[in-house]
Amino acid sequence: MKLPFVLAKRFVAGESFDQSIPKVRHLNDHGIKVTLDLLGENVKDRETADRTVESYIQLIENIHTAGLDSTISIKLTMLGLDIDRNYCRDNLFRLLDTARTNDSFVRIDMEGSDYTQATIDLFKEAFKTYGTHVGTVIQAYLHRTKDDIPELAELGADIRLCKGAYSEPERIALQNMPAIREAYKEYAKILLEKTPHPRIATHDDELLEWVQEYAIEKKLGKSRFEFQMLYGLREETMIELTEQGYNTRVYVPYGTMWFPYFKRRLLERKENIFFVATTMFKK
Ligand SMILES: Cc1cc2nc3c(=O)[nH]c(=O)nc-3n(C[C@H](O)[C@H](O)[C@H](O)COP(=O)(O)OP(=O)(O)OC[C@H]3O[C@@H](n4cnc5c(N)ncnc54)[C@H](O)[C@@H]3O)c2cc1C
Repeated sequence: MKLPFVLAKRFVAGESFDQSIPKVRHLNDHGIKVTLDLLGENVKDRETADRTVESYIQLIENIHTAGLDSTISIKLTMLGLDIDRNYCRDNLFRLLDTARTNDSFVRIDMEGSDYTQATIDLFKEAFKTYGTHVGTVIQAYLHRTKDDIPELAELGADIRLCKGAYSEPERIALQNMPAIREAYKEYAKILLEKTPHPRIATHDDELLEWVQEYAIEKKLGKSRFEFQMLYGLREETMIELTEQGYNTRVYVPYGTMWFPYFKRRLLERKENIFFVATTMFKK
């Protein structure tokens, strides 16, 4: 059974690119950059993966034509990572060719821990050829991040640092919030010191304030890093940060396959369930 889109509209900009354009323009008009994400994950057959690559290529071209200030995010499982690693790499490189031609950028989202190693390996391969046109994501809750962060920072990679959104066991990931926050701060320090433009992806006031104070203490300019948040969350805070001179970017998901993303947002915070419940009673 397909659930009605009205449930997801708080967190998902639309079921098509055209429906999402006004939301992207609204954010751009406030000086906030965007990352568009065509939703979906775990493609199991080549036909669907091929179609997905074509849709992403089209998306980069449509963003360019519409004059939007937006890059894109992708998931490697949508490009065929579960089918064959080399096939997935070829698809990623095709997409990055288009990104380079359009002077755009592709961020490889980080998925569950079964995919961490393959994602980092494919990112490193892509980084050698496409440099500033590609970046990836690191999750602070993973134990392995203490080794991954210094290595990626040494490369000067473009990293989005987030806490991590997937349910992982204790042997793989930290489980309690104070420990995850402390890890996040340690990794943010490394990225701020070693990489040209770290992306601080969080809605957490403690981390937002900590990064601002740390940057002042280390005399890092506001343009040295970027705050990133998800569509539908804390827009006023993003506008305030932009007005204060910080670089800001909102991750705007769209598409018909919104359910897994929507479910992760609901599980994250009980307030999100409240938002959805009220959405159901509004037009
Ligand atoms: C731009 C972006 C990209 C992401 N990409 C990935 C990815 O590729 N892979 C991945 O695994 N995860 C990704 N995530 C999700 C991320 O890992 C977390 O699951 C998610 O951001 C929740 O953690 P948090 O730090 O934002 O806040 P939470 O841990 O959910 O909340 C901590 C505290 O922050 C404050 N807070 C949170 N939300 C709000 C709100 N709406 N209003 C007011 N206060 C609030 C509250 O004080 C709350 O107690 C991404 C997140 C962002 C923002």
